[in-house]
Amino acid sequence: MSNPTRVLVLNSGSSSVKYQLLDMSDGARLAVGLVERIGEETSRLVHTPLTGDGSAAGRERTAAVPDHEAALKAVAEELAADGLGLDSPDLAAIGHRVVHGGLRFSEPTVVTDEVLAEIERLIPVAPLHNPANVTGIRTARALRPDLPQVAVFDTAFHTSMPEHAARYAIDVETADAHRIRRYGFHGTSHAYVSRRVAGLLGKDPAEVNVIVLHLGNGASASAVAGGRCVDTSMGLTPLEGLVMGTRSGDIDPAVVFHLERVAGMSTDEIDVLLNKKSGLVGLCGDNDMREIRRRIDEGDERAQLAFDIYIHRLKKYIGAYYAVLGRVDAVAFTAGVGENAAPVREAAVAGLEDLGLAVDAGLNAVRSAEPRLISPEYARVAVAVVPTDEELEIARQTYSLVTSAAH
Ligand code: AMP
Repeated sequence: MSNPTRVLVLNSGSSSVKYQLLDMSDGARLAVGLVERIGEETSRLVHTPLTGDGSAAGRERTAAVPDHEAALKAVAEELAADGLGLDSPDLAAIGHRVVHGGLRFSEPTVVTDEVLAEIERLIPVAPLHNPANVTGIRTARALRPDLPQVAVFDTAFHTSMPEHAARYAIDVETADAHRIRRYGFHGTSHAYVSRRVAGLLGKDPAEVNVIVLHLGNGASASAVAGGRCVDTSMGLTPLEGLVMGTRSGDIDPAVVFHLERVAGMSTDEIDVLLNKKSGLVGLCGDNDMREIRRRIDEGDERAQLAFDIYIHRLKKYIGAYYAVLGRVDAVAFTAGVGENAAPVREAAVAGLEDLGLAVDAGLNAVRSAEPRLISPEYARVAVAVVPTDEELEIARQTYSLVTSAAH
């Protein structure tokens, strides 16, 4: 019998499970899907088996899915209906996206009871994400106890950050007692994109310095030197850094004391304000860049100001990471906004010609799912658009771990 080559990637959120089944012999996607609104009466399941020619006919249904266990069982049923069930001998492993790996996990890790307990111990630093990730892993292990399950951490790529970038300038004993430091997130995406950019330049990742701008609903920047992350904009939690869809990004921490003392807000209320009601949505009522651009085209001033604040912060990080890296070979845009919003890319590098940065208007306007350069020939620094693929990267890391462990 040939060795199993398929990997199921699971991304368990608080009320959703997204999944992809990939065949790592050629990286092909065999099925993709999601279960959302878990815990509600009207949970939605969308499952799309993908045929060899790339065509897809999705199945969608609405049914009450009470919890993650029921969600994973529904996913297993959908896959089984296409002959891709979890009991298939072709399945090599399940790869789980885990948001927070703390300091302990700098690499993808085969899940054991001890590893799972450690991921649970990190819940205080990742209260919004790790509980769902733990539930997802536990449920998948119950369904296939004999199959290797691998945790791939969003923080792992950033564990290479030097202490001077990872530490906050606060009392060291207090910081260490409570594991307060900058961990960074979106690491799987930053790792994937920085490697693809090197490929686009025809170089080895070890030779290039890249600023990666992951601009989705959550957004983060990273400085990657020779394939290793040396700084990133998210910190202890994903709240720090860039202006995001609903998160404020950087603010003076004294704003929190002020809101407590003067506005009488509770810690939880401030948490919701900064994580859910700030950023673009707080500034103009919309967090979708498409809608913001549409409003700007109609002359909406609030949308324009939100856009300007978003771009100003982005520029500051490009400048900061330019200084951190010293020499920059490429700036790469990725995720929903970075891949699709040409006006954001144009505005983010406008005026940075003296840093060697420029965007060619024609190339920038092209829509494509392929990684591509959008800088003019003469520019010293390449500007790239690289569609991220966190699932492929999780599958790649998972497969590489289980196949190397088998030898
Ligand atoms: P992500 O979190 O990577 O899925 O990104 C989601 C965000 O990408 C949305 O909230 C939009 O702001 C943005 N987005 C998606 N498609 C487009 C588009 N065609 N043009 C501009 N922004 C887009």
